[in-house]
Amino acid sequence: MAIHERSLVDPERVLRKERLVIDGVDVSGDWNLIILPRVINDYDLEFLDEVLQQPEGKTITQCYQCSYCTASCPVHNYWDERYNPRHFIYLARLGLIDELQKRADVMWRCVSCHKCTHRCPKGVLVEEVLKAILRVMAKRGIIEEYPSKKFDKFFLESVYEYGRIEDGELLFGWVEKQGYQVVKDPILKKPIPFVGGVPDWLKQLAAKPLKSMNIGFLVLNAKHMLFHPRTKNWNRFKQVLRKVMEEEGVFTH
Ligand code: SF4
Ligand code: SF4
Repeated sequence: MAIHERSLVDPERVLRKERLVIDGVDVSGDWNLIILPRVINDYDLEFLDEVLQQPEGKTITQCYQCSYCTASCPVHNYWDERYNPRHFIYLARLGLIDELQKRADVMWRCVSCHKCTHRCPKGVLVEEVLKAILRVMAKRGIIEEYPSKKFDKFFLESVYEYGRIEDGELLFGWVEKQGYQVVKDPILKKPIPFVGGVPDWLKQLAAKPLKSMNIGFLVLNAKHMLFHPRTKNWNRFKQVLRKVMEEEGVFTH
């Protein structure tokens, strides 16, 4: 499996001279680039076994490193080139845990668009495989929880509670988790919007419908925030969700 992207090679291993003459022949040019070899002996092949044991990780061995997934990935292309699905798969297969750990700060950034999976000529379920890699890393305690992962948990717990997405509860609950003070009414114990600490991004978000005077939107949201309609027969499905959340290590109650 070859490394395709120059950005993935440590800069100190790349040698390039402005002018290179060998045996009297001037070989200066674009191809005058030498990558110093390295010997790696701190790999852990059990890591791959653990990924393969995850239901989502089974297709990892089908990858032949063509890089279509990375070329399609919006996170790689528009956000941060360090987010590289093909490379994560490459590192996981070789058991290069340290290298995966170096990229731990970007590995949670998948937005689940599935472009990678759609494009993969080998049928690798790329997004699922990446989740399996992250799960094994989390189980081993070698990756921290990142904000997006924390939000996933919070989101699931909220759905678990109400059987549906409660926008206000979710939004202000998350704001509170970020350290802002959220004031709740004394009777229903529901957050009172825009009383207490409010982050700037939320003020801007709220200003949009206010500017366009979308009163219906505001009334609907206010009603939903005060009276949470519950999903019918939610308790039956709740048990199934609870089991899944326990298996995923998400449940924190
Ligand atoms: S597109 Fe598929 S085969 Fe190609 S590198 Fe990505 S996962 Fe591997
Ligand atoms: S699903 Fe994730 S890894 Fe795949 S293309 Fe979308 S953002 Fe990239």
